[in-house]
Amino acid sequence: MSKKAILSKILDMTRLKLIFVFFLLSAVPLYPFETEIYPEKPKAGTGFLLLIRGSNLFSYEITCGRKKYAPYRRDRILEIFLPIPIGAQDTLSILVKKQLAGITLSRKLIDLPVEKREIKTVYLRQKDEAMRQKEPAVEEQQSLFLSAVATQTLERRWEAPFIQPLDSPVTTPFALYRKGKLYSYYHKGIDIAAPRGTPVKSANSGSVVLSETGFNIYGSLIVIDHGQGILSSYLHLEKIFKKNGDTVEKGEIIGEVGSSGWATGPHLHMGLHIQGTSVDPIAWTEFTETLPASKSPEKSEPAH
Ligand SMILES: [Zn+2]
Repeated sequence: MSKKAILSKILDMTRLKLIFVFFLLSAVPLYPFETEIYPEKPKAGTGFLLLIRGSNLFSYEITCGRKKYAPYRRDRILEIFLPIPIGAQDTLSILVKKQLAGITLSRKLIDLPVEKREIKTVYLRQKDEAMRQKEPAVEEQQSLFLSAVATQTLERRWEAPFIQPLDSPVTTPFALYRKGKLYSYYHKGIDIAAPRGTPVKSANSGSVVLSETGFNIYGSLIVIDHGQGILSSYLHLEKIFKKNGDTVEKGEIIGEVGSSGWATGPHLHMGLHIQGTSVDPIAWTEFTETLPASKSPEKSEPAH
């Protein structure tokens, strides 16, 4: 047999193998995978944990609320914390695709039951609305803030549970709807009233991705990246003790309560952000209290 003939035979074999592999890959039911969701019925405006058990060979793509996400690998498990929009009703559809080299091997559609959130409405006074008029500077500051809270860091820097930055009571809850004539918005965090100068603790370990002063609305602020798309923000501070790039420990004092920016009195506005979406910081703290320290809930019941 000539060299050419041998070569073409090898090529034929390769082609056959490829066809065989493709056939295997397209046989969808051959590649099932396990998922777990915790808690089983999360509330709108909170976060939940999705676990996928799978080998290192495969990648997974998650579609939830028209956004695509990739889970984070930790040991032999894939995990991602995802947000539920404030206004979510009854169920949230989650599509998980198992892929190899961009080819979808199998897919799983999960209809996650969601507990609706009661939303209170307050009406903005005209004076307050005028204060919040969108100026070019405000737009710029808000886009800086929004891109900071959407930071994606693969490494998990936090340990369960998250803690409260202040020991004072919440004065304005999460998701209060402020309705105005010109515009309306949800209160995407919690307000905690405390005397000026009260030390503010970091809710968990991480690194500072935004430390600024003089924002028209937010005043002096700090945003901390805890890894895996989870961030916390602290607004209206009197003093800030951390700068961009600094690492912080859980419970470390990062600043002092103030009334900088758009604030009627000294208070801390704290935000908790999951994959760029704001969730209820109190509910998030309570949720992480149910997670074993630095470990995923291996023993939680499979949701489906
Ligand atoms: Zn607030």
